[in-house]
Amino acid sequence: MGTRSDAVVLFGVTGDLVSKKLFPALYELVRRGRLSGPVIGVARSPWDDQQLVTAARKAITEAGRQIDEDVFDDLAGRLRMISGDYADPATYQRLTEALADAANPLFYLAIPPAVFDSAVAGLAGAGLAQRGRVVVEKPFGHDLKSARVLSTTLRGVFAEEQIFRIDHYLGKEAVEDIAVFRFGNRLFEPLWNREHIANVQVTLAESFGTQGRAGFYDRVGATRDVLQNHVLQVVALLAMEPPVAGDADSFRNAEAAVLAQMKPLSPETTVRGQYEGYRDEPGVPAGSTTETFVATTVTIENERWAGVPFLLRTGKSLPKTATEVVVEFRQPDQRLIPAENDAEPVANLLRFRLGRADGITMSIQAKNPGVEVTSRPVELSVDFDKALEPRREAYERLLDDAMDGRHLRFAREETIEHEWRVVEPILDLPGELPSYEEGTWGPSEAARLTPVWHTPIG
Ligand code: NDP
Repeated sequence: MGTRSDAVVLFGVTGDLVSKKLFPALYELVRRGRLSGPVIGVARSPWDDQQLVTAARKAITEAGRQIDEDVFDDLAGRLRMISGDYADPATYQRLTEALADAANPLFYLAIPPAVFDSAVAGLAGAGLAQRGRVVVEKPFGHDLKSARVLSTTLRGVFAEEQIFRIDHYLGKEAVEDIAVFRFGNRLFEPLWNREHIANVQVTLAESFGTQGRAGFYDRVGATRDVLQNHVLQVVALLAMEPPVAGDADSFRNAEAAVLAQMKPLSPETTVRGQYEGYRDEPGVPAGSTTETFVATTVTIENERWAGVPFLLRTGKSLPKTATEVVVEFRQPDQRLIPAENDAEPVANLLRFRLGRADGITMSIQAKNPGVEVTSRPVELSVDFDKALEPRREAYERLLDDAMDGRHLRFAREETIEHEWRVVEPILDLPGELPSYEEGTWGPSEAARLTPVWHTPIG
């Protein structure tokens, strides 16, 4: 923790991320009395303050918020627009003037990677980097090499404690709950190893396509967009050893340690695919070989996990939008209770539902009614929205954290580099991709990775 940020600067304020996530998050922070000082938008578009206020209102309304006019007026009164080029020192001169009263501003770089260097150099050149914090968005680099270059650029200007690297999955309450479930309960941690767990599956599925962002997506693909960051972060939380203590550093050390133990992914245990019609979308070059689906297996060769596959899959235009972890336990060694109709009993499954309808569902065997002693699966389930009060949006929590200088929910440089190391062998694989029909679970080839892919229920 440090001094709370007393100004927020949004680079790329005219963009999609600011509109979808950051304006609604700032509105919530104002509502809870967590925002002080100005909110300064920077972009090349020649907007004035009023256009910024109009854009903020539209964004907050579109995010489904019922606008409280007093709250909005408070936010609107803080908004200032600076239009200018990221390479022009005059832009930073005006920013310096606008930040005259701020001792500790938060610079949020919601800009395309192409202008990242200019913005960092501009802040440094104007002497703004010494005071304040910087938030950087994913994708952090394009591969291991470019991530290292980016780190060098950032570290040349900012100290590590000033840098906040967003992986918004770390801001999701249900994702944090994985650690609470494991380390805050006695029940499952003794079973959390290869003796008792057969495999772990992580599915991050989207039922929609590129939603008008094909130009961005085609340069990235499913592996870089979500597997390298969100999915591997979830695996780290599932697989990490208990941290030596409850503080942020211990926690992040344990996460980094398990990422360091993950084997690089192998093309042999990876299936990529592209949904039919993707190449016809505006912004997608003819003959694009960008994957919109990837399924793969990651292994962790340590005492706890040797031999346990972590099966990962993510894609667009799949049958539903859901993020779910399924932990499949081994069957009892002594088979005393057959399933009904002499079938093989279904293994115990523990599901972490991490999407909108978040919660936990456990599938256990129960006595099947009737004379025979047979079993069939039933579900024990908790929906967090019923059992707990409403959760806060990830971006709201992360902005609040960064403004307080709390690093727990941000990725470290070494974590991101390990994630790139793990995915590197499957980036840009040559050759044609298998296609899949929209609304299916990807190409049929994915079935070769596991006898059963558990379909998300969330
Ligand atoms: P946009 O493509 O919407 O771009 C943001 C703004 O940057 C634009 O409004 C534009 O503003 C400016 N810009 C665009 N291209 C250039 C260029 N070549 N040179 C200078 N300025 C340019 O990006 P997003 O808002 O979608 O994303 C911002 C960052 O956040 C990116 O790094 C992205 O990867 C990341 N991100 C985005 C997510 C999302 O859902 N959108 C999710 C997670 C991460 P102007 O022309 O007015 O200067």
